Amino acid sequence: MQVFKFGGASVKTAQGMRNVAEIIQQQQPYKLLVVVSAMGETTNALEQLTWAYLRRQTDKDLIWQQIRTQHEQVVDELAGDNPEAFQPVYDLFAEVETILTQEPESPVDQVYDQLVSFGELLSTRIINAYLNQSGLDSYWVDARRLVRTDDSYREAKVDWSQTAEHITDTLADLLETSVVITQGFVGSTGEGHTTTLGRDGSDYTAAIFAYCLNAERVTIWKDVPGVLNADPKWFDETVKIDQLTYQDAIELAYYGATVIHPKTIKPLQNKNIPLFVRSFLQPQESGTVIGHFEKHLPIPSFIFKMNQTLISLHPKDFSFIAEENLSKIFGQFAEYGVKINLMQNTAISFSVVVDHHPERLARLLPQLQEEFRISYNEGLELITIRHYDEKTIGRVLVNKKLLVEQKSRYTVQLVVKDLGRVHEG
Ligand code: ASP
Ligand code: MG
Repeated sequence: MQVFKFGGASVKTAQGMRNVAEIIQQQQPYKLLVVVSAMGETTNALEQLTWAYLRRQTDKDLIWQQIRTQHEQVVDELAGDNPEAFQPVYDLFAEVETILTQEPESPVDQVYDQLVSFGELLSTRIINAYLNQSGLDSYWVDARRLVRTDDSYREAKVDWSQTAEHITDTLADLLETSVVITQGFVGSTGEGHTTTLGRDGSDYTAAIFAYCLNAERVTIWKDVPGVLNADPKWFDETVKIDQLTYQDAIELAYYGATVIHPKTIKPLQNKNIPLFVRSFLQPQESGTVIGHFEKHLPIPSFIFKMNQTLISLHPKDFSFIAEENLSKIFGQFAEYGVKINLMQNTAISFSVVVDHHPERLARLLPQLQEEFRISYNEGLELITIRHYDEKTIGRVLVNKKLLVEQKSRYTVQLVVKDLGRVHEG
């Protein structure tokens, strides 16, 4: 069997839904599980709705109406003379509306998961109804019944053994006769409370299902031709990579390449399941395949992370940065949820580069200040080059001030200040 995953960009309009249906229809005979994200920007809109609901803002109904209207328009366009098939979409609207009339009672992050998960429930109900209407015997499955997680709402951790049991029990036979449609991003706790796996988590869901079902392959359908060696947002000339090793893919994703969610690779690598990244706009093209290959990337790949902060810690008592200090520092960073993108130490200083999270840093830094003198530099860029050479390093450093450079055999990381921007100031 194989797993397909369609992201929000592929299903944002009725035309997009039709295109997705066509790609699915071309995959007969069956044995296909399809994971779908929320339509377009729905997850962002549902986040806004959640904050408005929790703060009891009067505009919450307006925000909801916009989300509802967007979905209704797509349904109207797809339904033709068979609106009954789409009744489950209207049932979901009613569920959201019931929640919105009640006082928020659960903790913030739990309410977030309860509301934000409707994006995937809606999009999958729509595509499933459309497929059925077009004569394809697809079957809608609630991923929350299958993906069991702990209760770390908004960043829930998967309980693999229970999840595997649920998935094989429910789907093994069903996949013999039907295409199964399910939601990315969502799960639930043992008590049946909805959870989510972290933003952009639908790729990870596809990997979870593939792992549990021993899939032959996973295909992520995107609006790019495959994995490129750089983000076209920053580079005019990009090259599509035909084959990528799991190792290169995980390194690129970890350092911020947005093409695949970083957690996706491990379950696939563990079972040697190849991952295809292909364009839903050009489904006849082969895209990129990530798998177990001998050869590493033939060309340098670039990842840019903007809005980085460099923090340097110097022990006030002049003690060495060694095991004891390091474990104290790491403990504090973990406790305040500040993820380290790069670190470097000398005898008596320790520097880290982190994403700029003002609230988290405001809580973390006073803790560290008890024992360390801290210097701090904001508005930086972190450039990671995988399979670098000196020429490419020179190329990305034009008009930048280099603050930290770290090289390993395959990867160089550069922390820079953009001089152009400073002058424009
Ligand atoms: N809809 C979710 C998000 O936008 C999950 C996903 O798209 O992967 O974060
Ligand atoms: Mg998305």
